[in-house]
Amino acid sequence: MEEKQQQIIEAAVKQILLAIGEDPERPGVKNTPKRVAKMYGEVFASLTEPEFDDYALFDSLNTDDMVLVKDIQFYSMCEHHLLPFFGNVHIAYVPDQKKVLGLSKLPRLVNYCAKRPSVQEDLTIMIADKLVANVPVKGVAVAIEAEHMCMTMRGVKSPHSVTKTFHYQGVFKTDPERKRDFLRAIQS
Ligand SMILES: [Zn+2]
Repeated sequence: MEEKQQQIIEAAVKQILLAIGEDPERPGVKNTPKRVAKMYGEVFASLTEPEFDDYALFDSLNTDDMVLVKDIQFYSMCEHHLLPFFGNVHIAYVPDQKKVLGLSKLPRLVNYCAKRPSVQEDLTIMIADKLVANVPVKGVAVAIEAEHMCMTMRGVKSPHSVTKTFHYQGVFKTDPERKRDFLRAIQS
């Protein structure tokens, strides 16, 4: 994020502090606008940084078997309240053209997709869409289990609720057995 954008965030956070009845000159919060601006640069990085394009593919004997990476930790910000939601992403795909994706790329893709204001439903679909667009696959399944701070600390205050979202494309959508395999695998 550029210096200019950081300054705009800083000024806006100072206004928020004033508006909620804080004294922006109080020592405890004096540097808060600067800190928040720096943090926003980090947690919303994918809005200002180049698109993730590191899809390293490898030759494989695998033509038809599910590859699953489970429990990929993520942190994102809900676009309705700008509060964190966080949890785990599970991604499965069935390779095509005997090509598989370097396993470390999936957590990096998740990290890229999460660093913007979002809702869990859309994040789930976005991860699948990016995979389908950049990796030869017969199908993709993505599930996310997350806790939303906007649900746990305000409003309905539902402290232990976990939101689960699912998205299927290709063979995971058309073949119920594939879907069942995926759901069974992420539960174990
Ligand atoms: Zn929210």
